[in-house]
Order: sequence, then structure tokens, then C-alpha cells
Amino acid sequence: MSFREETRDWLDESCPASVRQPAGPGEGSGGGRRATYPNPEGKLWLDRMAEKGWTAPTWPKEYGGGGLNREEAQILGEELRAINARPAHTGMGLSMIGPALLEYGTEEQKLEHLPKIIRGEIWWCQGYSEPGSGSDLASLQTKAVGDGDDYIINGQKIWTSGANFADWMFCLVRTDPDAPKHEGISFILFDMETPGVTVKPIQLISGMSPFCETFLDDVRVPKKNIVSEVNKGWTVAKRLLQYERTSIGGIGGSSQRAKTMEEIAKDYLGESEGRIADADIRDRLLKHRMNDRIYGLTMRRSGEESSSGNAPTFLSSMFKLYGTEQNKDRFDLMLSIMGSQMLGWEGDAYTGRELGTTREWLRSKANSIEGGSSEVQLNIIAKRILGLPD
Ligand SMILES: Cc1cc2nc3c(=O)[nH]c(=O)nc-3n(C[C@H](O)[C@H](O)[C@H](O)COP(=O)(O)OP(=O)(O)OC[C@H]3O[C@@H](n4cnc5c(N)ncnc54)[C@H](O)[C@@H]3O)c2cc1C
Repeated sequence: MSFREETRDWLDESCPASVRQPAGPGEGSGGGRRATYPNPEGKLWLDRMAEKGWTAPTWPKEYGGGGLNREEAQILGEELRAINARPAHTGMGLSMIGPALLEYGTEEQKLEHLPKIIRGEIWWCQGYSEPGSGSDLASLQTKAVGDGDDYIINGQKIWTSGANFADWMFCLVRTDPDAPKHEGISFILFDMETPGVTVKPIQLISGMSPFCETFLDDVRVPKKNIVSEVNKGWTVAKRLLQYERTSIGGIGGSSQRAKTMEEIAKDYLGESEGRIADADIRDRLLKHRMNDRIYGLTMRRSGEESSSGNAPTFLSSMFKLYGTEQNKDRFDLMLSIMGSQMLGWEGDAYTGRELGTTREWLRSKANSIEGGSSEVQLNIIAKRILGLPD
């Protein structure tokens, strides 16, 4: 039996019907110690996928991963999409710190953290940005000072997504204040329950608090939690950003979404001879769909041609830039289609889909800031891909 047939049979038996649709409110799959599963089949789906290692299909089997090669992982992805299965598990563990640990972690760190990420037991957050250090991340000031077998960390992080739910943080700290700024940084891991870690959610205009300020006051962390070498953390940090940017860029390039937009346009604008009645919207949608398709194929080609296995390269900046701008374009188009129905905040005059789309539209504005702004990606593309002078 071919891998595709085996996979299809397994999914047929193992993927519960209720997870063959997008996750509803509160049904996110970030996992972690405090995770609740309003739909028990969501947890069942996670456990079944994790047992096969398919929450991290290409990670080695010795850490609980699926051990699949690129082609098999692609087939798995196609079969999951074909039944509209939602991801069994998502988050910074799988998309960011896990891949970085595979590359730079010690054997002990891999054995401790990777299986828990795969099983969705630990929710990770990212302690990079500081009040004075965003685009110029290497200017960060949070300090770690050696004390026997430990470091004592003091400082403040900001915009820490999900810190109020997270179990562990991967964090950038300054371990040599006298070295040139990129050379005095270390990459360290700690449990958010360590004394001295205080998390303060930042209330947004929407009433939601997706980000936090994270205060670190005399936080004692074992030296063995440094990833790679002391003062060599910038190398790990940059690699992790490439994983993050590739992952954020992936929000563009879905031809399925373009099709759904066409159906919505017919609903709102009417049909003429089976086509969307508004010619301008028809043109814009077609262009958007073509761009999605081209972008999806370019990402795929880049993966297939890559000589670095699954590891990303500076091309991740190109994907981050294009994918996020494409996602913003998607919501601007939706606004043109749905008009004032997409500007509601609450009340019976709007459907649930309309209210949800308004929030998604506003959220999409952050796509070109998170993980490094579009301007920063353009700088990287100019310098690292096009070889232009600084
Ligand atoms: C949704 C979201 C989630 C986030 N999650 C996290 C998280 O979990 N952990 C974390 O550590 N951080 C997180 N961040 C922070 C994010 O990484 C920073 O916001 C981002 O790097 C930009 O930094 P800044 O906000 O300090 O803006 P600044 O660096 O102050 O930039 C302000 C403006 O100046 C421009 N600019 C700055 N420098 C240059 C330059 N050299 N050339 C051209 N233009 C420039 C920028 O493009 C931007 O438009 C998140 C941000 C968002 C929006």
C-alpha cells in the first residue's frame, strides 16, 4: 500500500468528524498545562496525531516526531487539507523553538522539550522585544549575570504574545555588556513559574489581551538552559526568526480561501450569468487568486530546491513580506465586498461571520509588524538576497 493510501485510511478512521472544520471560538489548539478542550474530540485528535508523531511530521522519531521525509510530509499535508482537518496542534513550540532546538539544542534539551511540544503539553512564548528594542532587537538590555550554576536575570520584555497562558519562555538576554551588541547576547529557556517572573496583559482597544509585558526580577535560571553557547545567542535568535517568518508568511498562498471569497462576493454583490456581478471586484479577486497561487507555488519550489533540508534561509524574509501583504490585501478586498457590514463591532445588525471578519481584518494589520516589520524584511532582502550595500 502506498504512503498516501495508508495515510488516507488512517485519517479516515482517526480524524473525528467535528474537527473536519475550522476551530470555533475557544477551540484553539496551542496546548499547554492550562489548556482546556471545550470539544473533547479536539483533545482526542491531538492525542492521536501526537502518538503518530504527526503534529511534527518531519522531526526525528527519537524525540517523538513522525520521521517523515519531505515528500511524505507533503502528502500528509495534502490529505489533511482534503478532509478539511484542522491542525491538531499549533504554536511557537512547533513552529519556532522546536526547530531551533533540533538545530542548536543539546541532546538533554532536545529530550526534555521536544516530546512535550509534540504532545502539546507545554505552551511556549517568545521573550525577544523590549520597550526600547524592537526592530533593533540586538540593542536589548535584559541582563543575565552568572551566579554559580545559575544566571540571575533582570529586565523587561514587551509584546510577549500569550505570556499569560505560557508555561515556558525562550528569551534573549545580555550576558556580556562590554561586547559589541550582537556578540554579548545569549539564548536561554525558563519556566514561567520561576519566582521573579511577572506577566501583565496589555489591554487592546478590542478588549482583548493577546500581548503582555513580562517583568523579570532576579529570575534564577540554570546555566544548562542556555541554547548553543554563551554570547552566541544571536545566531540562534536569527535562525528562529527565519522559522517564525516562514510560518507567518504561510498565511498567504491559500487557493481554498480565494474560492471562499468568491462565494462570499456572490452572496453580497449578487451574480450575473453565474459570475460575480461587480466587474471591478471580479478583476481584483482574480488577481488576488492568481497571486495566491503563484506565491504558494514559489514557496513550494523554494522548499524543494533548498539544499538546507527543512531549514529556512534569508528567503524567509521574502515570504514574510509577501505573505503578510497578501493577507492584508485579502481583508481589504473583503471590506470592499462586504462594505459597511464589515465595520460592525456588536449587535444584531451583523452576522457572526461579519463580526468575526471585522476582527480578523484589524488583526491582519499586525501581520506586517510581528516577527519583524515589512521595512525590516526589505532591508534584509536588500542586504542578504540582493547583496546591496548597507
Ligand atoms: C501581533 C504581534 C505579536 C508580537 N508578538 C511578539 C512576541 O511574542 N514576542 C516578542 O518578543 N515580540 C513580539 N512582537 C513585537 C514585534 O517583534 C515588534 O513589534 C517588531 O519587531 C517591531 O518593533 P517595534 O514595535 O518596537 O517597532 P519599531 O522598531 O519602533 O519600529 C517603528 C517603525 O519604524 C520602522 N523601522 C524601524 N527600524 C527601521 C529601519 N532600520 N529601516 C526602515 N524602517 C525601520 C518599522 O518598520 C516601524 O514601521 C509582536 C508584535 C505584534 C504586532
